[in-house]
Amino acid sequence: KDGIYLEVQTTLYDQNDHLIFVRDVTRLHLLEQMRKDFVANASHELKTPLTVIKGYLETLSMFKDNLPPSMQRGIVNMSDQSLRMEHLIEDLLLLSRLETNDKREAHQWVKIDDICETVKKTALPMMSDEHEISFDLPEDSYIYGASSELYSAFSNLVVNAIKYSPEGGDIRVKWVQNEFSGVFSVEDQGLGIDPRHIPRLTERFFRVDKGRGSNTGGTGLGLAIVKHVLIHHNAKLQIRSQPGFGSTFSCHFPTDRVRQEALLATVATE
Ligand code: ADP
Repeated sequence: KDGIYLEVQTTLYDQNDHLIFVRDVTRLHLLEQMRKDFVANASHELKTPLTVIKGYLETLSMFKDNLPPSMQRGIVNMSDQSLRMEHLIEDLLLLSRLETNDKREAHQWVKIDDICETVKKTALPMMSDEHEISFDLPEDSYIYGASSELYSAFSNLVVNAIKYSPEGGDIRVKWVQNEFSGVFSVEDQGLGIDPRHIPRLTERFFRVDKGRGSNTGGTGLGLAIVKHVLIHHNAKLQIRSQPGFGSTFSCHFPTDRVRQEALLATVATE
């Protein structure tokens, strides 16, 4: 009932002839669908027991002062780990929604400034005294999209810039618009990334340095989320980096998705 899925490829055989390859990928498609369903269901089922564990931990924390130090440390540790698990489940569910197109938010004109105000609330508390962050955003720029998805993508990039600049440094968040595109970029002076790792960065759970990644409290899903949000906005991710000097992550949105305020009225009546 789901039909057949075919993959078609053409290549030039000689000057006039083309070769057409047709591959039946139905089984591959079904397996992929099963994987997506499994991840979505498992993440959803994990939410309830975690809520119960967190509830008991909160109660235990209230009586923490009466417990021996080793148990107090245990409670703090359990609370940190349950928070981490909560973030992981939230990210898995978001990724599942993005992949399956389920319960998606409607697109509308969203002010970039407003998205970045929310990003600041998440990111600024993570900074140390050695970090300096600047937001260079015109007040009147808009993207046509889903605001909470765009928030997830932009905040993942800004939070990564902070996490992977352990020595501090400048972080520049910018929006630049021209006649061809609107570009949201985050530049840092952090660890940078070896060029051979760049093509794999948006894979789920891929980390350049496994040990370092898990210590930073990330879920390993941030850039996979960024990639899927951008696909849904017909946008592209560009990564430029120099190990030891820093990285720039840029999201390129097509012209029909971006507007200056003065032109919004025209769009509304189109
Ligand atoms: P994580 O939760 O591990 O941060 P992400 O998907 O957000 O997961 O990022 C994947 C990996 O890409 C990270 O583990 C890190 O190795 C690398 N990375 C991401 N952003 C940066 C950055 N700004 N500078 C250096 N490395 C980065």
